[in-house]
Amino acid sequence: MIIGLPAALEYAERNGIGLAAINTPFFEGLLGVIDVAERTDVPVILQFAQVHESIVAIEDMGPAMVELARRSSAPFVLHVDHGFDIDYIRKGLDIGFTSAMIDGSKLAYDENVRVTREVVELAAERGAGVEGEIGVMTGNENGDPDQGVADAALYTDPQAAADFVRATGVTALAASFGTVHGVYRRKPKLNYELITRLREATGVPIVMHGGSGLEPQEYQECIRHGVRKINYYTYSAKAAYDACPPLVEDPDVILFSDLARAARRAVEEDAQRFIDVLRATA
Ligand SMILES: [Zn+2]
Repeated sequence: MIIGLPAALEYAERNGIGLAAINTPFFEGLLGVIDVAERTDVPVILQFAQVHESIVAIEDMGPAMVELARRSSAPFVLHVDHGFDIDYIRKGLDIGFTSAMIDGSKLAYDENVRVTREVVELAAERGAGVEGEIGVMTGNENGDPDQGVADAALYTDPQAAADFVRATGVTALAASFGTVHGVYRRKPKLNYELITRLREATGVPIVMHGGSGLEPQEYQECIRHGVRKINYYTYSAKAAYDACPPLVEDPDVILFSDLARAARRAVEEDAQRFIDVLRATA
């Protein structure tokens, strides 16, 4: 079944857990995540990021995501991840997504507020939730190797975050408190106290981007401090990739469909581990 972002976040808040928000720009990944959700009693956020247009178009993958979620017994939020313009987000909402992130973090503050407000108004007409972003997170959802480091100078300022949420009316806020997108080259330095301050100043749930590759205790500590949605892609896609080489080397395996099946199972196992970590705080 498909639910809205506010309902999913309320569930997470009530139970003191984090929600897995997994990008599924390939079909085996989508099936693997749905398999896990169906035997897990927590909402799962299925995401499609605008940068993944380089893999598949949202017009092609989006309807599959919506239809499989609708048919499933498990609760799903369908979320447009890192939408960079309102037209792209409108496209996602038209397909049936119930939530969207407008990423205006690279814009000047006033322009970010203006664009985000516009998306909040559009989403409100359709009963959808909106995630905004303030602060800078380096790297991108494609596991960009040029990710840089999370610098304290780039951390989100709680007062600016509070003003931003008040001015825009977003449902949740992506903020910078030490994570970066992609594969971590060095240990991230997470600022837990900043998460608490952001949560208290804004009054909305905090979203973690760059959620691949932290230690279980790090996720759980972030959740205890007010993170409720954790974006996840790189390690899921990597799990699928890592399942393939043994099959490629096996002379008896000659069909791509065998790799696809292994990838689905690998995503499933990885997503199960991830979701179990995020709900262990309850
Ligand atoms: Zn992100």
